[in-house]
Amino acid sequence: MTNPADVQAALVENGRRYLYPNYRQPALVIDRGEGALLWDVAGKRYLDFFAGIAVSALGHAHPALARAVAEQATRVVHVSNYFFNTQNVRLAEVLCRKTGMDRVFFSNSGTEAIEACLKLVRRHFWASGQPERLRVIAFENSFHGRTLGALAATGQGKYKEGFGPLPNVTHVPYGDARAVADAMSADVAAILVEPVQGEGGVLPAPPGFLRELRRLCDEQGALLIADEIQTGIGRTGTFLGMDHDGVKADVIALAKGLGGGIPIGAMLCREALSGALPPGSHGTTFGGNALASAAALAVLETIDSERLLEQTAAKGERLARGLADIRSRYPKAISSCRGRGLLQAAVLSAEVDPRQMMSKLQDAGLLVTVAGASALRFSPPLVVSDAQIDEALQVFERVLSGAV
Ligand code: PLP
Repeated sequence: MTNPADVQAALVENGRRYLYPNYRQPALVIDRGEGALLWDVAGKRYLDFFAGIAVSALGHAHPALARAVAEQATRVVHVSNYFFNTQNVRLAEVLCRKTGMDRVFFSNSGTEAIEACLKLVRRHFWASGQPERLRVIAFENSFHGRTLGALAATGQGKYKEGFGPLPNVTHVPYGDARAVADAMSADVAAILVEPVQGEGGVLPAPPGFLRELRRLCDEQGALLIADEIQTGIGRTGTFLGMDHDGVKADVIALAKGLGGGIPIGAMLCREALSGALPPGSHGTTFGGNALASAAALAVLETIDSERLLEQTAAKGERLARGLADIRSRYPKAISSCRGRGLLQAAVLSAEVDPRQMMSKLQDAGLLVTVAGASALRFSPPLVVSDAQIDEALQVFERVLSGAV
């Protein structure tokens, strides 16, 4: 079988036959990429404004990432945390410098990073003689992952159905500082917050909200956990999403963009929490292995050398402006636009089915995701070019106008 379209069709058939059917992949198979472009096995080109769910910070096949992974693979891939490895120690140092945190625990995914945050705060209060501090305050519409702890913190019922009972987490409306204050009491261990709710529909925290959470935590002796899994590593135009508000958390979760697509997550914390998880209390075989750490170091170095933070802020504004312009021409189809940096959304009106729109855009060569009930999320690689942003906007408008 040599016809690429036939090869693709056969792969799709086997994917549907052998893979566990918990996802709903469309009938295409991604073959390769370059920067913010992807090609499927049949040779069709896509503008990737999806980036593997806001992951591929350096886009696809970035030479610095490819080199780092290839070179590391010829030295050592994995040794476990029984030993230090060079890349991991270097990465921990760079991450602490960039975030102002003191300690890093490495995981393999976002949900594992959140799990580590939750276990850290729980054990911290247990070890410091306040075992009654068990409760976590999180937010309606939030997403924190799919392990049972992270799922308990997630504030969207659709992810939890059939998995209860889950650990007790109090959910309050996002952005409502009054509701948080009312929910606070001496049994609260932590507030867990996304600076922009990503999966919930790309909702930036309202002005002053994160600062108020910091104040409430300080007042009550609770800890502030920032879930920066989607917003971190430059996605919003600053290294952390919290940096827009100048608010420092006590604990931070990172993943997604950190490895540029190589699986790695991290829980970072202040020195005061470094005794909460002593040897044996928490760990993972793969976390922070040499290959993943080399990839993450390459991502962080490239963000600096290519000045991607500054560019992300400017490109984010270009994308946001373009989406707002389209909205002004199609007010019936798009009810609002929102976002920060290269995490932007066009919120579709009730007349437009978001999944159908996503699928039409895909047919037209533009990959985006649906976030929340009705937001089309645009989260391209940080290396996306101005021309590619303009092209994506044109495709979006063409599809909206029904011309495609
Ligand atoms: N937290 C946030 C804010 C996320 O956006 C996600 C994933 O979308 C997660 C946690 C879970 O990360 P992972 O899918 O790597 O487990």
